[in-house]
Amino acid sequence: MTQKKPMLSVQEALDFLLKGARPVSDTETVSTLDALGRVLAQDQASQLNVPPMDNTQMDGYAVRSADCMSGNASLSVSQRIPAGHVGQPLQPGTAARIFTGALIPEGADAVVMQEQCQFDEASGKVTVNHVPKSGEWIRRAGEDIRSQSTILTAGTRMRAQELGLAASVGLAALPVLRRLRVAVFFTGDELTMPGEALKPGAIYNSNRFMLRGLLQHLGCDITDLGNVPDTLEATRQALRQAASGHDLIVTSGGVSVGEEDHIKPAVEAEGKLNLWQIAIKPGKPLAFGEVNRTDSTGTAFFVGLPGNPVSSFVTFLKFVRPFILALQGAQTTPPRHYAMRADFNWPKPDRRNEFLRVRINDQHGLDLFSNQSSGVLTSTVWGDGLIDNPPGQAIAAGDTVHFLPFSELLH
Ligand code: AMP
Ligand code: MG
Repeated sequence: MTQKKPMLSVQEALDFLLKGARPVSDTETVSTLDALGRVLAQDQASQLNVPPMDNTQMDGYAVRSADCMSGNASLSVSQRIPAGHVGQPLQPGTAARIFTGALIPEGADAVVMQEQCQFDEASGKVTVNHVPKSGEWIRRAGEDIRSQSTILTAGTRMRAQELGLAASVGLAALPVLRRLRVAVFFTGDELTMPGEALKPGAIYNSNRFMLRGLLQHLGCDITDLGNVPDTLEATRQALRQAASGHDLIVTSGGVSVGEEDHIKPAVEAEGKLNLWQIAIKPGKPLAFGEVNRTDSTGTAFFVGLPGNPVSSFVTFLKFVRPFILALQGAQTTPPRHYAMRADFNWPKPDRRNEFLRVRINDQHGLDLFSNQSSGVLTSTVWGDGLIDNPPGQAIAAGDTVHFLPFSELLH
């Protein structure tokens, strides 16, 4: 008989998961064009200054500021320098017509914007109605990035802006950690695929779509083994198949200890398991362990999520996502919470740590979705995020609560 273990707090469970995470170490080189979502394997330094040379931030005239002290200096326009072209050294007493992004010619030390200048076609001279400071409107070489400086560190997950930064210093390819290989399967004889008719007692397998989406967002290589019948033998066989060639197995359903819940004995038979009662709502049962690979190449991590779709969603975000990021070798900071005002009452809190589905209203407060049941996926679509409500904490309208936006959890 299993002994009844005390409930773990959300933080205790998370700490346990993260402590045991073994990050992938194999690396590969990918084109910077294809590196979105990948995790950098090494620090990246710039081999050049950005911008590479001093250039103008404005359309106008490049001048020697000493020539313009009068406030109405008249200078002959000796050359025209568009972006991408190199001018001649600027002679004293002359100005160069210049366009945004063009290199500052040798000798010039300021740009006067064209709105402060008057060009006279007939004489070919420009009157400069401004006393420029030395350096005015010049973007200095290396102002953004200095040659040899580190621009991105190992463990960075490449977003669009990191891709742009890498490209700005000319990096055409990047060393990245290999993608995490994740196998998923879904337990429940009631599960039916969309496209098929629902028989009495059956429901559609929404978790399959949701969990795949969450894993895709995280850049995982997914093997989807589909639905697995509610028998011990089928569950064990699916686990063996899932462990082979994968770093992590994620399942949904069957983690309670009812007669139809086979995850616990199956993982115990094929590896080792911690079945936790976590003080989280929605959620509570979460299975975590390792499954042996039959080819003796070690083990695959295992996380069994509850079947109820909102429980599955919330526990994925709270536990599986940070665990996956750790396995991927990604640097992470905990998701940011925001102090926000509740515009509703929640008089009967649970003794577990609740994650309430809420939405930001036009008054910058939070509205509560009317049905907080763990099966109601509508709440996750309607909501902007979760309130992280401590155990036993009642909420009255006007109270400040911890808001965890989905944007912090779903990128
Ligand atoms: P279980 O964790 O297997 O006891 O399932 C708990 C509840 O979640 C039951 O009502 C199941 O029908 C439902 N459920 C289990 N798996 C899924 C799934 N993949 N998609 C949608 N609902 C599910
Ligand atoms: Mg089930």
